[in-house]
Amino acid sequence: MASRARRLAAQLRDLRDAAAAFPDALVLLDDNGRVRWINRAATRLLGLAWPHDRGVLLNERLHDGALGEWLRSGEARAEDIAAPVDANIRLNARWIAFGQNQRVLRARDVSDLAHLEQVRRDFVANVSHELRTPLTVIHGYLELLDPQDVPALAPVLNEMRVQSRRMGQIVEDLLTLSRLEMQQHLPEEQVPMAPMLASIYKEAQALSQGRHRISLDNSAHVDLFGSPNDLHSAFSNLVSNAVRYTPTGGTIAIRWQRTPEGAEYSVADTGYGIPAEHLARLTERFYRVSSSRSRATGGTGLGLSIVKHVLNLHGAHLAIESEPGKGSTFACRFDAARLREAGSEHA
Ligand code: ADP
Repeated sequence: MASRARRLAAQLRDLRDAAAAFPDALVLLDDNGRVRWINRAATRLLGLAWPHDRGVLLNERLHDGALGEWLRSGEARAEDIAAPVDANIRLNARWIAFGQNQRVLRARDVSDLAHLEQVRRDFVANVSHELRTPLTVIHGYLELLDPQDVPALAPVLNEMRVQSRRMGQIVEDLLTLSRLEMQQHLPEEQVPMAPMLASIYKEAQALSQGRHRISLDNSAHVDLFGSPNDLHSAFSNLVSNAVRYTPTGGTIAIRWQRTPEGAEYSVADTGYGIPAEHLARLTERFYRVSSSRSRATGGTGLGLSIVKHVLNLHGAHLAIESEPGKGSTFACRFDAARLREAGSEHA
């Protein structure tokens, strides 16, 4: 018996030692939210001290800063938040439930990853910015040249114009994405939806030039709260995709409707559709199902990434349903907290 107890005690010690040496911060809580045990990394990353902090309420002990805010929010995960000991240390944190009402907080140092991500973002932003001026110059000269002067070169000149416009659009889209990525919050105000939908409907008709039947249904009669320009660009991106990926004769339905959670802006088309295996990756930069079709219709492969970022910044998400050969529906789902009574900005 005694040797079995010794063996169990030794095993327990091994487990504790392993957890103590773990590179992620671990904080074990009792069901009242008090600290039962911490490992060494919890001292390094969270500033907790052992045994000094045994029994303290974690929410009170780590009250300040982004981590404190997250602890109070009750959310299961937090990504890339500043460590309480040093804002240069970036943490991913999450709750792990075990046993009966017991929880472990795990915080991982992701500073290196966050730094790499920052380098990537800066690089893309800088390259795009540097390309803008030379492109504007090239574009300007191309516009000045008159194809009539050298008729033999007219097709070449036209192609050069098309390509320089395309490059310009890619650069502008990359800059938009960089701006969205660098922002934690957008400037927000009440966004009147009725005029926004009317202008999107007009854009759709202009793009389609009578090739599609387009309808608009605004049954939500409610406004959004957010960034008008960014929402407009997200919503019109979806409409432009529907027009570009729906053959002549198809229909496109733009809807703004209430849902149990809030409201939904959706664009449904009867176009080419998208095979299921591509759906999860559509919002990645430059991801295209068919690059030739995208290019032929003037796409940059960045539209849906922009949509996703704009929606993220509004706490909304994009739901995509599609069937090849039948069509697709792209829906932007907003929570009730984002909605404002229509017209109430003048009240
Ligand atoms: P692009 O500029 O290539 O259209 P997006 O990011 O807007 O880039 O879209 C990514 C890809 O998703 C497109 O290349 C296309 O393959 C597919 N896609 C987007 N919208 C639709 C749609 N309404 N119907 C079919 N395919 C679509």
